[in-house]
This record gives sequence, C-alpha cells and structure tokens, in this order.
Amino acid sequence: MQCAACYRESKHDFCPKCSKRLFDGIKIAARLSYAAPKSENLPDYLKHTSRLSISGVQLKYSLRREEKALILTENQGEYIVKPVPPSTQLLAIEDAPENEHLTMQIAEQVFKIRTAANALIFFDDGQPAYITRRFDLKTDGKKYQQEDFAQLLNRTTASNGQNYKYDATYEEIGILIRKHVAAAPPALEALFRLVVFNYIVGNGDAHLKNFSLIQHESGEYRLTPAYDLMSTKLHTPYETDIALELCEGCLDTDFYAANGYYGRQDFIGFAKRLGIAEKRATGILDIFINLQNQTMKRIENSRLSEESKSNYSKIVLDRLLRLSRR
Ligand SMILES: [Zn+2]
Repeated sequence: MQCAACYRESKHDFCPKCSKRLFDGIKIAARLSYAAPKSENLPDYLKHTSRLSISGVQLKYSLRREEKALILTENQGEYIVKPVPPSTQLLAIEDAPENEHLTMQIAEQVFKIRTAANALIFFDDGQPAYITRRFDLKTDGKKYQQEDFAQLLNRTTASNGQNYKYDATYEEIGILIRKHVAAAPPALEALFRLVVFNYIVGNGDAHLKNFSLIQHESGEYRLTPAYDLMSTKLHTPYETDIALELCEGCLDTDFYAANGYYGRQDFIGFAKRLGIAEKRATGILDIFINLQNQTMKRIENSRLSEESKSNYSKIVLDRLLRLSRR
C-alpha cells in the first residue's frame, strides 16, 4: 500500500519516516474511529473548534494523540484536521483534503520547499481529511512565539476592512523579513520560491496570514515551514491568479499590459526587489520549469478525482508556460 503521507510504498498506513515525523514513531492508523462532521454530530465537533480560527469555509479541528488514537480535543491539540468543507458553492469540494495533501507533498518532495508535516486520513465513514502537525509547539507543550504577516504589518479588519488579508504585496512581506530575520537572504529566497510555487500550482489564496515568522529558542526569528498550500483554482476556477500583487507598480510592466497576467520577467523583477540576483532568480525559475514531468506524475498518482487530476495538470502546464516565455 501507499504511505498516507508521502505516497511511497509502505507496509503500514504510514512509512517509518512519516510515522516518525508525524507521530514520533507510534503506529497510528490512517482511519479514525469516528465519523466526519455532519448535522448529527456537529455540536460535538463545534465544541472542539473554539481555539482554532475558521478561514473561509474550511473548518479546522484540533486533535491530540492518546496512545495509538487521534482524538478530538479542546486543549493541547497537536494536530489540525480539515475535513471536506461543508460547501456547495465550490467545485470538486470532495477533493479539497487531497488537494492540500498533494500540493504540500509536491512542494516538499519535488520543489524542495520546507513544509509542515501532513497526510491524508479518513473518518470511519470513509470521508477524507487533511491532517497536519503543528510546528509551533515545543516538546513541553508550550508554544513558540509565532506571528503571521497580517499581524506583523498591523493589518486588521478595523484598519483595512474585510479584505485585510489581501491588502498588501509580497514585496512587503520581503521588507519585513529583511527587518526581523537575522539570516535574511535565505529567507527571502524561500519567500521567492514559495510565491513562484503558489503561482505554478494555482494557489490564489496565499494571503498575509499564510506566511509567518516563528521565534526559536535562540531568540532568532525564522520563516515557518510552508502551510495551507493547495490549488485553490480547482475549487474556484474564476479567482484571480495570485492572492497578493508581487509589488507596488508590478502590474505596470509591458508583459502584464500585453497578457493580463504575470510572466517570467515579472518574477525576475520581483526577485530583484527582494535582493535576489537576476542570475539566481532565472536559475530557480528554470529548475522549477524542469520539474514539470515530476509534478505531472505526482498529480497522476494522487487520490484526486480524474477530473481534478486533469484540471490540476492543465493549471500547472499553463503556469509553467507563462514562466518559460522569454
Ligand atoms: Zn511516508
């Protein structure tokens, strides 16, 4: 069978490596012993959601490990689980958990982007859910100081209205990285790679709250591993191509004016504004473009529906073409 996290061949639900990373090596089944949230048991679920934010329609629940079981919890949840969202407004919604799992795995395995540990698990009624392990917890259960970029930029509903999470540019994230992160150049490059990756997979929801800094024991701030990555375009095909603009004035380039979307030169220009040399930026873009076949293979081998596989592949091919045209 396939490992429920990394897709590699495995004798158990989780291969040894993923079992260690997700559950400290404890044998956990990828099937939970209770049903997915629905009207009858919703009150029981809602009791457990108070501590976690609800972003859009995607409900998140908190789980903790008790011996070999993962149980719903109010306190000390070490895992976040996201079932199929209860929405009829979005397309292919039953593919949402696998979309997030697949996108996170492609980011890590193919694009070498550091990501939060994650997997696809199932409720006892067969409903899939995305599960991720929290990275802000210390071994003693205390939390590392973590701040997302909406907090760091002081963007709130009160200051910037309902759309505050989208009221910024990726360059502004870069400026704050330079200010707060001691090892800024690698963090700026990680930001660049992540912004390009999101563009390639059609993640149109990479807003300010989906980027964070975390303070380590040394007191130093670093970028957190990537989280909440998915091809949102599969569910909302008419959304904008990118959640935030690359930079102030970045829409004024000749390429954008001619095509109505960002292309290779726009990303190279963005990299320069982050302080990344042009040669380095083109090198990263060319490496990413060469990952096309590997990415297609991952999509093909995933648990997405055939229609979503085909749509996801089309999105990636289209975006890679945009990044290739000189
Ligand atoms: Zn694995």
